[in-house]
Amino acid sequence: MTAGAPIPAGLHTPGPTPLHPEVAAAMAQPLISYRGPEARALLGRIAEGFCDYLGTERQPVLLTASGTGAMEATLANLLSPGDPVLGTGGGQFAERFLGVAAAFGLATTSLDTPWGKAAAPERLRVALRTRSGTRAVLLTHSETSTGALHPLPELIRVVREESDALVLVDAVSSLGAMPLAVDSCDAVFTASQKAWGLPPGMAMVWTSERAIAAERGAGLPRYYWSFARYRDALARGSMPFTPAVPVLFAMEAGLRLMLREGRDAVYRRHAEAAAAARSRLQQMGLHLVVDEENATNTVTAAWLPPGVAWPELTRTLQERHGVVLAGGFGQYAGKILRLGHLGWTTPRDIHRAADALESCLGAPVSRPASRPEAAKLAN
Ligand SMILES: *Cc1c(COP(=O)(O)O)cnc(C)c1O
Repeated sequence: MTAGAPIPAGLHTPGPTPLHPEVAAAMAQPLISYRGPEARALLGRIAEGFCDYLGTERQPVLLTASGTGAMEATLANLLSPGDPVLGTGGGQFAERFLGVAAAFGLATTSLDTPWGKAAAPERLRVALRTRSGTRAVLLTHSETSTGALHPLPELIRVVREESDALVLVDAVSSLGAMPLAVDSCDAVFTASQKAWGLPPGMAMVWTSERAIAAERGAGLPRYYWSFARYRDALARGSMPFTPAVPVLFAMEAGLRLMLREGRDAVYRRHAEAAAAARSRLQQMGLHLVVDEENATNTVTAAWLPPGVAWPELTRTLQERHGVVLAGGFGQYAGKILRLGHLGWTTPRDIHRAADALESCLGAPVSRPASRPEAAKLAN
């Protein structure tokens, strides 16, 4: 690899992801005013694209933020100081959700799910019974720090059966790539740079009628993050504050590609990429962090073998192969590698990254007999 040479699809972090050329090209369009007729048309097409893709009538709130901004905004819009909230724990992002809630003066309780495990619906049931008056349950769908997929429908069913708590869902690394019923949540948020295959810069939130009613009585302060301002502006085809316009151009192009490919085909592509990642990592002799039945389809984590240092591995992968994986953080720092397979990623990309990893680890090269060669996103 010569310095400065283009590195095709070498980025395998669980966000940001490689960009489809049509998405990249869309960002180079001349800027528009975010209040004029072009913006009205653009925002209309984006809102309609999300509704079509996700199968919901709910209009998205489009925030100029990364996923954590949407997490903070969701709490600030729906809750009041001192409100009791219950979170699952189980990874860096579930803990961050609780951490943001604590920073806003909410009374947090964690189920303390062990890292790498899926949250147990029956433990949630017990916790809700012993904490009547829980105002909101904070759920993470796909825990990007471990690769676990939490059983969202079962967890939501337990919340509905046991309480009238609001269900707030971090779907940052799942929505778009994996099935999730937006209408089953009181608030669900995601970010442009994850499963949507877009550049970073925008976060999207969908709220229920119940959540909108809760907003009116919610006592936490908000101004820039006020969902009501974004909804009112969107109804007029505008934004309350300057959005990341190039990311909105990219969003329109990305949604068009995903709709053209079809939601089921997008889900299947992610499932196939995930299966390829799991099988290749295991064939190298690596142990996966999460049991197959609880694994998300957007990122796979594996324990680093004894004697392999992450800083050295990541440097070698990048220098020799132009391949960028993610490491661990929190209690997994220096212990795991994470191979992202979300956004514009195919099983073939995963095999290329796995080949590079295999050659760096010096493990026996043991290729699967047949390697799915799915075409890149249909053009
Ligand atoms: C990436 C991610 C976030 C937010 O991270 P940002 O860097 O703020 O976009 C939150 N939750 C999950 C599950 C994530 O994967």
